[in-house]
Amino acid sequence: MSTTASEALFARAKQVSPGGVNSPVRAFRAVGGTPRFMASGAGAWLTDADGNRFVDLVGSWGPMLLGHAHPEVIEAVTAAAARGTSFGTPAEPEVLLAEEIVDRTPVERVRMVSSGTEATMSAIRLARGFTGRDKIVKFSGCYHGHVDALLAEAGSGVVTLGIPGTPGVPAHVTADTIVLPFNDPAAVDVAFAEYGDQIACVITEAAAGNMGVVPPAPGFNAHLARTCAAHGALFISDEVMTGFRAARRGHWDLDGAVEGWQPDLMTFGKVMGGGFPAAAFGGRADVMDLLAPIGPVYQAGTLSGNPVATTAGLTTLRLATPEVYERLAATSTQVQALVTGALTEAGVQHVVQTAGTMFSVFWGVTEPVTDFAGAQAQDTGAYTAFFHAMLDAGVYLPPSAYESWFVSAAHDPEVDSAPLSRLAEALPVAARA
Ligand code: PMP
Repeated sequence: MSTTASEALFARAKQVSPGGVNSPVRAFRAVGGTPRFMASGAGAWLTDADGNRFVDLVGSWGPMLLGHAHPEVIEAVTAAAARGTSFGTPAEPEVLLAEEIVDRTPVERVRMVSSGTEATMSAIRLARGFTGRDKIVKFSGCYHGHVDALLAEAGSGVVTLGIPGTPGVPAHVTADTIVLPFNDPAAVDVAFAEYGDQIACVITEAAAGNMGVVPPAPGFNAHLARTCAAHGALFISDEVMTGFRAARRGHWDLDGAVEGWQPDLMTFGKVMGGGFPAAAFGGRADVMDLLAPIGPVYQAGTLSGNPVATTAGLTTLRLATPEVYERLAATSTQVQALVTGALTEAGVQHVVQTAGTMFSVFWGVTEPVTDFAGAQAQDTGAYTAFFHAMLDAGVYLPPSAYESWFVSAAHDPEVDSAPLSRLAEALPVAARA
């Protein structure tokens, strides 16, 4: 497989951009080799600058629910762009998208932003503004974007205040961040016993997808919601990755809707932007109405609710009918079975974990992974070999073992069986790598 064009672009990119990329994981640092510079995408397929074709199991890290360049999304986006790409005024598409989100989720009000990072950053500001408290609780292994206060690592001890996870974040910024182990209700209780009246909010991924897929244990999110309510803190469920992806109404539909709890605030991104920069946070009307212009908590954005981006998101969500999610779930299950079959046949120890239609594979582990420590126990070297064998065989996987895999509606055999047959051929070869 020729990589000449990607190599040349990467060399040029490194001259003008740090590491040659605009988001670190794209650089293949974890797996080595030349990142493929993609030139086009159609349905389940990506084509790189050298003309190599790959079955795509990354889906732009989640957004491409319907596959690449879905004809109806492209048509709607083209028409929206022709009407003008940004007005800096309110416009109809953002209202329609907000209505769709309110319709599908427990949120009552929505504020649009342009990235998941902005969504979580703003939700935390709002929670602090609403409660008049400073401390926030997050969980190890959960990623909520590159918000300063959320780039915190756990100190030693069960409940310690966070230490900065990166240079550039001052210690005082993470001093109010409490980092706890995921799926550990007892640690949450200890934190609230000590700091309960100072905690503004708990933020968690509805189901973790950024340490591989680690679903919440039954009752874990319910415990967070109840604990927050008991202490006057807000519960923020981050559905940037899971929203409209794990299930049609988001992961909450598989969890809160069943167990009978609601988050106070939620964050969304990825699928709701249909491949464009659109994200949002939303929640209880009494909390959301504290935002400017009606309330004192400031939050704004030149391109927030952008008409082209919100049209892409709205068209994607409208096309994502319950039948589409049924097929996505079936395809996801089918791909998991292919992976497990190939790895088991090759004698590779692994565990496949799911959250709705999201799934990932943990390498060299035998027990279910429930937290970040468990995720870190996996054999990333084994994944690297597998990743490259799959890439050589024309299947594009996430360039890190700590990521969810994403299928799209275009991976459906009813649409085109070629992507799944390519996988079925590639997997046994890669599993032996
Ligand atoms: N929250 C979650 C759960 C995410 O998965 C991500 C991105 N992977 C973010 C927030 C940040 O979103 P963005 O990259 O759009 O800033």
